[in-house]
Amino acid sequence: MHELSIAMSILEMAEEESDRRGGVRVSAVNLKLGALSGVVKDALLFSWDVASAGTGMEGSRLLIEEVPVEVYCPTCLANRTLESVQWFVCPQCKSPVSEVLHGRELEVFALELEESEVPQ
Ligand SMILES: [Zn+2]
Repeated sequence: MHELSIAMSILEMAEEESDRRGGVRVSAVNLKLGALSGVVKDALLFSWDVASAGTGMEGSRLLIEEVPVEVYCPTCLANRTLESVQWFVCPQCKSPVSEVLHGRELEVFALELEESEVPQ
């Protein structure tokens, strides 16, 4: 499953960060997920639980911020948010659009750490 390998690579990254900080526990990972990323949110959350079980990351949460598809409409001369990822037309004037500004994100932008568990 596509999402499982993504969950595993995010876990790996978070564990490395945890080690770098002296083993502090990561309580949550914040991820931006674009509507065009090709990743299914529910499948990724499920994969996260599966992949983290039995590891140092077990019990940590994956917090997903969904990013809608934002495009630039050359007719309106404005940024527009697409209503559907199937139809690349401006929701206002219905002109075809091709310039995607946001929506392809698949990036970890923050880790929440349990500072209280830093070993002395
Ligand atoms: Zn338009």
